[in-house]
Amino acid sequence: MNDLIHTGTQTVWGGEEKPWMQGATQVPVVHSVSFGYQDMDEWMQVAKGEKSGHIYGRNTNPTVQAFEEKVRRLEKGEAATSAATGMGIISSALFGLLSAGDRVVSIKDTYGGTSKLFFEFLPRFNVDVTLCDTTDHAAIETEIAKGCKLVYLETPTNPTIKILDLERLITAAKKAGSIVVVDNTFATPINQNPLQLGADLVLHSATKFLGGHADALGGVICGSRDLVKTIYHFREINGATLHPMAAYLLLRGMKTLHLRVTRQNDSALEIARFLSDHPAVGRVHYPGLAAHDNHEIARQQMRGFGGMLSFELRENSLEGVKRFLPRLRFAHAAANLGAVETIVGIPATTSHVECTAQERAAMGIPEGLIRYSTGIEDPRDLISDLEQALADI
Ligand SMILES: *Cc1c(COP(=O)(O)O)cnc(C)c1O
Repeated sequence: MNDLIHTGTQTVWGGEEKPWMQGATQVPVVHSVSFGYQDMDEWMQVAKGEKSGHIYGRNTNPTVQAFEEKVRRLEKGEAATSAATGMGIISSALFGLLSAGDRVVSIKDTYGGTSKLFFEFLPRFNVDVTLCDTTDHAAIETEIAKGCKLVYLETPTNPTIKILDLERLITAAKKAGSIVVVDNTFATPINQNPLQLGADLVLHSATKFLGGHADALGGVICGSRDLVKTIYHFREINGATLHPMAAYLLLRGMKTLHLRVTRQNDSALEIARFLSDHPAVGRVHYPGLAAHDNHEIARQQMRGFGGMLSFELRENSLEGVKRFLPRLRFAHAAANLGAVETIVGIPATTSHVECTAQERAAMGIPEGLIRYSTGIEDPRDLISDLEQALADI
């Protein structure tokens, strides 16, 4: 199947059209740790990468490969590789591509775990990290122009749903000769394809929207063959390999990715509008709202605005949030996002659980901010649920 098939078909069939064993129509879960050969020459060829095949499960596995191939088709990359979690692929990318003395330019609003790598781990290996104000594109461009090995971007951001102008920042990075990595977890390949805007690598926490059912962890990265090979090589050695059973669950979840995300786009916009008009609600962060600072950029670079939003109660106190969250009937209060069920949480327990209160404050993340991951429920029920929970809050 070529790469020009429409997205809704690609999510169902992409990576799965091989003839599987015994004519199975579904991708088999291959639990075997090793793959045996009668012919030593063939074994050598596979080991050297001259012939396709598998040797040992820490390196490659057929189920895992089908998952990588499905994501690769959707992100329109040359190659893809995966890891056991989103952080597994992010750390494999950073530690695989960077060396002592290199410099990274990124933003203050990256995912909490990623910012931990930036604050705590990379500096120990003498990698210099500059984190810019996410809303100040000129400042980010200035830092990139000073020279850096890698530019790490994320949009929309977690949890304040800020939007970066990818084309603008990628242009700046190309001028400086930097590798551009984009975390596309919030947008999903349904809404945004950073590689088509010139990024070198696009990655996902597959745990979120790709899997979509909050029952499997995983991470994946796509881009040029050379860069992906370098990251794969580090990942096969650090050992953060995606499990075949998780790969299967992610593959199954991804069959409905297009259906789920288009529904979540529509519902989140409706909910964001409802919240904006509600007297008990303060600021609402959603790129689909005309009032969002970068609404125009979002309209140009995204096909849909995504399922993620965040908001503050007018009485912006943690006490109000503690009363509000348990009142919701159709929402898990949990540290996850992108699932079929609606999920709510606050930064201290979700995206930025890894950070201290001071670190969250430094990143401009209010403690009472409510992150809302829109599920696929009927939006009328989600809105009436919010309405009853907000009454006399
Ligand atoms: C959850 C998340 C990650 C980390 O993924 P894990 O699968 O939890 O390791 C990275 N980036 C973003 C934007 C996320 O939401």
